[in-house]
Amino acid sequence: MAYSANSIGGKMAQILDGKALSSRIRNELASRVEALSERGVVPRLDVLVAADDPSSITYVNMKQQWADKIGIVGESWQVTADTTQDWLIDKLGELNADPGVHGVLLQHPLPRHLDEAAALEALGPGKDVDGISPQSLGRLLTGAKGFRCATPLGMMRLLDEYGLQCEGKHAVVIGRSVILGKPAALMLLERNATVTICHSRTQGLQDICRAADLLVAAVGRAEMVTGNWIKPGAIVLDAGYNRVEGRSGDVGDVEVSSASEAAGWISPVPGGVGPMTVTMLLSNVVDAAETAPSN
Ligand code: NAP
Repeated sequence: MAYSANSIGGKMAQILDGKALSSRIRNELASRVEALSERGVVPRLDVLVAADDPSSITYVNMKQQWADKIGIVGESWQVTADTTQDWLIDKLGELNADPGVHGVLLQHPLPRHLDEAAALEALGPGKDVDGISPQSLGRLLTGAKGFRCATPLGMMRLLDEYGLQCEGKHAVVIGRSVILGKPAALMLLERNATVTICHSRTQGLQDICRAADLLVAAVGRAEMVTGNWIKPGAIVLDAGYNRVEGRSGDVGDVEVSSASEAAGWISPVPGGVGPMTVTMLLSNVVDAAETAPSN
C-alpha cells in the first residue's frame, strides 16, 4: 500500500489507513467467496442479538450489510426478555452442529437475565469467528490454531500491511479488557514484542507510555493520550471510539493533533482500527467456509 502523509501538525506521522486496507481486503474476500460459490459453498454468518438494544441492532445491521456486499449470507436470531437460557444453549448447539453455518456471532450485551459467559462457553471454537469465547482465547494464549479476536487482529494486520515489525520493541497496551487489551497484548507478545499492560490502577502511566516504541490505546476515554505521552517516532494504534457531546462522529482515545507531531505512525479515528474490526470478522468467516469439514 502507498504510504500517505498526515496533514496535521508540522512533523508528519504516517497514517495507518484502516479504511483503505479494509476496502482492499473486502474486495479480496469477495473474490474468495465467488470461488467458494463455484464449489457450491456459500459462507454463512449467523448472529444472536438482543432485540431491544438499539446499539446492538445498529452494529449487527452494519456487519450484515458488509457481509452481504461480499456475498456472505446469514440469519439473525433475536434474543428477547422471553428467551430462556435453555433456548440459547440449544440454539448454539444447533448452530455448532450445522455444517452450513460457518460462523456464529454473539453480539454483546445479551439481555441481563441470560448468562453470556455460559453462552460463550457453549459456542464451538470452530464457529467463534469473533474469537472471544474462552476456548478461542485459550488457543490464543497457548499459540494454538483458532480464530483470533477481530479488533486486535485488525491491528496486527495493519502493522503487517505497513511492514512494521514488533520484534524487540517495547509495546505498551493501555486497557486490559478481554475482547481488546488482553488479546492485543498476547498478539504483540506472539510477535516477540516486550509487552507492558496498563489499566486504571497503573501508576506513572504517562512515563510508561513515553517509553513505548508501540503504543496501543484501548481505554474508552476520549483523547486521553496526548502528544507528550508519546516517544518520538513511536507507532500508535488507537482502538478507542468515543462519543463526545458537541462533536460529530467518533473520537479516539488519542488526541490526534498533538500525537501526530510525536508519533512516527498513527491509526486515525475514524478510518484506522475501526473498519479493520468488521473486516477481520468477515475474513474469519471466509476462512471458516474455506476450511469447513464439509468442503
Ligand atoms: P473496557 O472494557 O471498558 O476496558 C477499558 C480498559 O481501559 C480497562 O482495562 C480499564 O482499566 C482501562 N482504563 C480505563 N480508564 C483508564 C485510565 N484512566 N487509565 C488507564 N487505563 C484505564 O473497554 P473496551 O471494550 O476494551 O474498549 C476500549 C475502547 O475501544 C472503547 O473506546 C471502545 O469503544 C473501543 N472499541 C473499539 C473497537 C473497534 O472495533 N475499534 C472494538 C471494541 C472496543 P481497568 O481494567 O482497571 O478498569
